[in-house]
Amino acid sequence: GGFESLNLNPNVFKAIKRKGYKVPTPIQRKTMPLILSGHDVVAMARTGSGKTAAFLVPMLHRLNQHVPQSGVRALILSPTRDLALQTLKFTKELGHFTDLRVSLLVGGDSMESQFEELAQSPDIIIATPGRLMHHLSEVDDMSLRTVEYVVFDEADCLFGMGFAEQLHQILSQLGENRQTLLFSATMPSALAEFAKAGLRDPQLVRL
Ligand code: AMP
Repeated sequence: GGFESLNLNPNVFKAIKRKGYKVPTPIQRKTMPLILSGHDVVAMARTGSGKTAAFLVPMLHRLNQHVPQSGVRALILSPTRDLALQTLKFTKELGHFTDLRVSLLVGGDSMESQFEELAQSPDIIIATPGRLMHHLSEVDDMSLRTVEYVVFDEADCLFGMGFAEQLHQILSQLGENRQTLLFSATMPSALAEFAKAGLRDPQLVRL
């Protein structure tokens, strides 16, 4: 049950070793094989469990390298700017040996600098829902139809912070053939309903 048994692409495997991770955490051991085999997953996991790498490693393995003109291929939604920044840092570290492009769309940074980043055709977007919706409303040719991999991180916080409406709108703009992952410490009923509507036969993982 170590990282070697996952048959990860060498670029991702090297980055895991570089980061100093020796063995997967329990949540990683349970979710990574499911995610790698293409399942939608609802994982009950809190911060500190290793949840970020649990969704980043399979994502980086899958995306592997930059594809010009592909559009956005992965979207990670975070409740806060701080969590988004932290996820960006992990994405850069675990993606160190890939040439994948990642953009951060969060409030507090200028729209202009984010337009410039989007013009570099990122493979991965890490966003807070409000700022992502702002971009979608301002830029006519910005589309999420090409997204293959979407993560709702700390989903209970996303709901708790009043992003439900934005999340439903974002969900409606995603393509059908996507893999959807939802990570949450708790599962309030509004979130369970959301997961039912947005995920396809999700595998439930709890510790
Ligand atoms: P997270 O729950 O994603 O916020 O991660 C909590 C901490 O665990 C972070 O500092 C990670 O770098 C670290 N971490 C994640 N996966 C592993 C692992 N397999 N072995 C050791 N540390 C890890």
